[in-house]
Order: sequence, then C-alpha cells, then structure tokens
Amino acid sequence: MMKVRIPISQPSLSQVEMKYVVSALKSSWISSTGEFIPKFETKFAETFGARYAITTNNGTSALHLALLALGVGPGDEVIIPALTFVASSNSILYTGAKPVFVDVDPKTWMLDPQQIPNKITSRTRAIMPVHLYGYPAPMDQIRKLAKKFHLNIIEDAAEAHGAKYNGKYVGTLGDLGCFSFYGNKIITTGEGGMITTNSKKLRNKIMLLKNHGMSPQKKYWHSIVGYNYRMTNLQAAVGLAQLTKFHTFLKKREKIGTWYRQALRQVSCIILPPENNDITIGVNWLFTVLFKDGNGKTRTGLMRFLQTKGIDSRPVFYPLNQFPMYKTKEQFPVSAYISQRGITLPTYPDLSLRDISFITNMIAAYVNL
Ligand SMILES: *Cc1c(COP(=O)(O)O)cnc(C)c1O
Repeated sequence: MMKVRIPISQPSLSQVEMKYVVSALKSSWISSTGEFIPKFETKFAETFGARYAITTNNGTSALHLALLALGVGPGDEVIIPALTFVASSNSILYTGAKPVFVDVDPKTWMLDPQQIPNKITSRTRAIMPVHLYGYPAPMDQIRKLAKKFHLNIIEDAAEAHGAKYNGKYVGTLGDLGCFSFYGNKIITTGEGGMITTNSKKLRNKIMLLKNHGMSPQKKYWHSIVGYNYRMTNLQAAVGLAQLTKFHTFLKKREKIGTWYRQALRQVSCIILPPENNDITIGVNWLFTVLFKDGNGKTRTGLMRFLQTKGIDSRPVFYPLNQFPMYKTKEQFPVSAYISQRGITLPTYPDLSLRDISFITNMIAAYVNL
C-alpha cells in the first residue's frame, strides 16, 4: 500500500501539550483526579459561554449522559437527522429509547425543521440536532418546535467546536451540548468529550452518573446505577493546551475553507458545501463537497485517483437507516443523495495553500481527464 502523504486529518500538537502532559505526569495524578480536569472544564465553559462544562471519556458517552440526565429511557423517542455519525443514534439506543430519523435539508445538509412536526408523537422527549461537518443546524426553528411541543434539546456538537449560530457557539443553544475530542476533531485530547449546560441540576445529575453514581457527600454510597465515563487528568492536560490555540485553529480552518471554495468553485461536477451567512458560521471540520457523476467520472474514481497522488479522502457517512440495526421502511432521499455524492477532503490547521492547491489541481485534473 502506498504511504498517504496528505492525510484526511492530523492533530496540531506542540510544546504546550508536551509541557502540560509532563506536568500532569510529574504530579502523579494520571487518573480522573488532578488539577487539569477542573482547569479544562472552567476554561472550556468560559470560552464557549456556558455556565458549566463537564468532561467525559469520549463524545459518545457525553451524548449518553446527556440523554440519561434528562431522564430519556425505554418507551421514549428522540428525533435525530438520518445523516450523521452512528454514535449520535447509538447513544439514544443505549438508553432504551428509540431514535426517530428526519431527513436533512438539501440547502443546509442539516436536520430539516419542516419535517420534524410529522415525527412528533406522545412519546417524543427530545430533539438531537447534529452540527454536521462543522456547520450549524437551524437552531431557531428547532428551538421554536422544542418549546411548542415541550421537548428537550441535546446538541451533538462533536464536529463543530467554534461554529456559531446567531452569534452564539453551537453547543450552548439547547439544554445540553455535547462535544468530542477524538483525534480528528477540532480540539483533541486523543479520546474525550465534554457536556455544556446552564442548568445546575443537569450538571449535578451528570456528575453523579459519570462517576459510578457515587454520592458526592457520602463516599462509596451509590443510590443509582452509574457509569465510569470520566476523563483522565492526562487527557485534560492535552485539552487545556489545545484550548489555548482554539482561535488560531479556527482562523486556519477558515482560510482552508476559503482556499478550497475559491479553487473548486469553477470545477464542474463539484457542488460546494453550505456557505456561511448572517446567521450561521461553520468551522470547516472536514471540508466536504458533492461530486456529480457523469462522463465516466465517478466519486469512487475520484477517490482512487486522489489516492494515487498521495491524497487521502473519505466518503460521507451512510444514512443511518441503511444499517441493519436501524432499518426503516421510510427512505430519506436527501440524506441518501448527499451520502452517495459526498467526498471529504483533507482538513486540518497545518495544511498550507500549496497543499490545498495541489489537492484542488488534482481534482480538476481528474475531472478533465
Ligand atoms: C465524533 C462524533 C461523535 C462521537 O464522539 P467520540 O468521541 O468518537 O465518541 C458523535 N457524534 C458525531 C456527529 C461525531 O462526529
């Protein structure tokens, strides 16, 4: 196999991470107690404008805890987009509740608010919008519906640290916001997650659930079945270091998005992802375009061609209803359309204009082959 010269993603790590991790190691606090955990949580909450931020061991457990904290369980239904990473939906299944899929809007690629009311039943408890590929979901419409039908909102912001909706960070617009710090996410801790909320009650419930259900007042007293979903001090050290560079990361990603758009706008067969506007500002998590097959050119062909040039790319997620555990009779045509045509291109802060020019020139070369 040929070595990938431009990977799809790569974390930006430097001296700051090194310094903090060494300091955590030297302190001998390497498990889930230690100074970096509260520091990371406080700084994250401050950065995002949330009252509380709670670390977790990954983004999936963050979603699971958020659902549990709201009391979502067997017999309940939660509305989510049909097009998202499987973890969004799995977290709902873990609680015993049922994920109810809604198709996405072709203009935004996000949960289509107009299709939500049809899906609401007496069992619906919550809506889980996903800010897919770093673009904000239409939160005003979703919040209106949640209010009207008395539903909670859990934002899956795993791919969208720093994306803004109406001037506010996504992840702070619902009852609870969930973030992932997996290696390819906008901020990483290797594995890790965070939940943001303004509710003290929800925060306390999450703290209890993530730590074996152990009473904060009475050591080794457990009144509920909890989980071990804690982040380690070592991971929090990496996270705190990453946060010091958060705005630099966002600026670089903005540039990369601009370079991709400028170069690909003229290329036939390519449809660009949703644009920023007055209300929504995306963060180019993984820059993703649609490729319209034609003249013997296909998405698979493009991906193979790029691979021969040492450029990694990925297909977009499959709609969830295509997986055996989520099979539905209902089809989700827009999700299927985006999934069939979507191709994700290398996106990470350390890419240069030269790298992007090389990638986009190779895309144009394939189209004109
Ligand atoms: C990455 C991701 C998750 C899960 O995060 P992990 O940290 O990998 O558990 C959940 N939802 C979406 C949309 C994601 O992209």
